[in-house]
Amino acid sequence: MEIIVCIKQVPDTEELNKVKINPETRTLIREGIKNIINPFDENAIEEALRLREKVGGRVTVLSMGPPQAEVSLRKALAMGVDKAVLLSDKSFAGADTLATSYTLAMGIRKLGKFDLILSGKQAIDGDTAQVGPGIAEWLNLPQVTYARKIEVNRDKVRVERTLEDSFELMEVPLPSLITVTKEINEPRYPSLKGVLRARREKIIIWGAEDLEVDKKRIGLDGSATQVIKVFTPPPPSGGEIISGETPEIAENLIKKLEEQKII
Ligand SMILES: Cc1cc2nc3c(=O)[nH]c(=O)nc-3n(C[C@H](O)[C@H](O)[C@H](O)COP(=O)(O)OP(=O)(O)OC[C@H]3O[C@@H](n4cnc5c(N)ncnc54)[C@H](O)[C@@H]3O)c2cc1C
Repeated sequence: MEIIVCIKQVPDTEELNKVKINPETRTLIREGIKNIINPFDENAIEEALRLREKVGGRVTVLSMGPPQAEVSLRKALAMGVDKAVLLSDKSFAGADTLATSYTLAMGIRKLGKFDLILSGKQAIDGDTAQVGPGIAEWLNLPQVTYARKIEVNRDKVRVERTLEDSFELMEVPLPSLITVTKEINEPRYPSLKGVLRARREKIIIWGAEDLEVDKKRIGLDGSATQVIKVFTPPPPSGGEIISGETPEIAENLIKKLEEQKII
C-alpha cells in the first residue's frame, strides 16, 4: 500500500506569540522561530506507519515550505517513514489554502501511484482545516475528515469520523484522502536507529519547474484570498447583567434585543 502523508511545519505553540507579520506582504515572518511538525500531522504519520505494519507498503511524507521544513521531514524519517519530499520554491511563498492544496496535489501527482493520502485535521497556526479537503478536490478523490479510526480492507477503507457527541462510520474506496484527529493514536518517539538513519537519508526537493505547475495557481498570485489587515481584536466591553425574577429577566432581555434590532 502506497501512503502519502502531508505534513506542515508550524511554530511551536510556545512560540506562536513571537510570530510577527510582514507589514508589506501581510504574511507571517517565520524566521528565527522554533518549529515543530503540526501535532495532528504526527498522528497522521503514526497512523500511516501502523497501516504499513499491518498491510505492508511504503510511507512517503510530503511538505510544502521553506528549506527549514527539512528538519520536520527528518523527524518523520526518524519515526520510520520511507521517503521524504519537500516542495520548496520562492514562487510557492505566500500561498493561501487554495494555492497550498494545489501545489501539494501537483506534488502528489508527480509522486505517481498512491492508495491513501493522510493529513492532519488542521494546522495549529493557520487553523482552517481546508488543505486536506482541497487536495482531495484537486485530485478528484473521495475524502473523509476528522477520522478517529481507520481500517483498510483490500481496496476499501472504513473510517470512524468524529462528530460532536457521536461518530459516523463511513466506507470509501481507495484511493482516497483522510484527515485525522488526535484521538486516533499516540505518535511514537523516534528510535535512536531511526534518528541515525534520518541523518543519512536524502530529502527530495522539488521546485515549480519540477512539478509542471500552472504558474497562475501557485504562491501569492495563485491565492484566491488576500489578507487586507491583520490585527488583535479589542477585548469585549463590559456587557450588562439583567437581574430579577426569571419572567422579568426574559421580558427585559427580549425588549433589549428588539431595541438593538437583533430580533
Ligand atoms: C486568507 C489567507 C491568506 C494567507 N496568506 C498567507 C501568506 O501570505 N503567507 C503564508 O505563509 N501563509 C498564508 N496563509 C496561511 C496559509 O494559507 C496556510 O498556512 C496554508 O495554506 C495551510 O493552511 P492551514 O494552516 O489553515 O492548514 P490546514 O488546512 O488547517 O491544515 C490541514 C492539514 O493540511 C496539511 N497541510 C497544510 N499545509 C501544508 C503544507 N504547507 N505542507 C504539507 N501539508 C500541509 C497538513 O496535513 C495539515 O494538518 C494565509 C491563509 C489565509 C486563510
